[in-house]
Amino acid sequence: MKTINIAIDGPSGAGKSSISRTVANELGFIHADTGAMYRAIGLYAIRHDCLEPEKLIEKLKNIRVELKFIGGVQRVLLCGEDVSDYIRSPEVSMAASAVSAVGEVRAHLLDLQKKIAAENNVIMDGRDIGAVILPHADLKIFLTASAEERASRRYLELREKPDCPPYEKILEDIVQRDYNDSHRAIAPLQKAEDAVLLDTSNMGFNEVVEHVTAMIREILD
Ligand code: C5P
Repeated sequence: MKTINIAIDGPSGAGKSSISRTVANELGFIHADTGAMYRAIGLYAIRHDCLEPEKLIEKLKNIRVELKFIGGVQRVLLCGEDVSDYIRSPEVSMAASAVSAVGEVRAHLLDLQKKIAAENNVIMDGRDIGAVILPHADLKIFLTASAEERASRRYLELREKPDCPPYEKILEDIVQRDYNDSHRAIAPLQKAEDAVLLDTSNMGFNEVVEHVTAMIREILD
């Protein structure tokens, strides 16, 4: 069976995951958040003190990452443990950004990502989905927004939490991760040539969801 594959790439905090999740629910697709896989490996590297590439590469054969879809909702498993609730901290974000620059780590996750797309109608979000993982995706979208807008969205999301960092720190982290993600040698963050650019700086969440859903419906017709 030919599956429908939608690739959504873009920088940190552009809303890729929440948009993809909502649209996927609406269309009955699964949503695969590939950032969660890098985050799981980042968490492993923190826990096992192997953030340096050489140490991490040595341990890669022990690192089993799986995605499970429970009622359409993604859970990420690290060596069988559901770590979905432990991978969203700023520390893990930075570790994910670091481990994702290691070619062996990317190769370790490649087959899993391709397999998910081959077996499911999927909206897959990440950094290199349109350019590297699913070059033949039915639709590619590059979702972005200004760094300031992304930082303020993130701040609004976190501000009720006791350990919410100040806005300036969130912005600094976003700028740093943008730099890391777009300057690494392997699979840098990039817009695939045939991706549709969608700048959401001045759009509300529902507006983006409607826009993306309409684009996908168009190719389904
Ligand atoms: O999307 P998210 O912010 O959860 O991703 C965490 C980190 O994983 C990013 O900073 C990025 O470095 C990396 N990543 C990647 N390739 C992907 C998805 C995420 O390099 N396809």
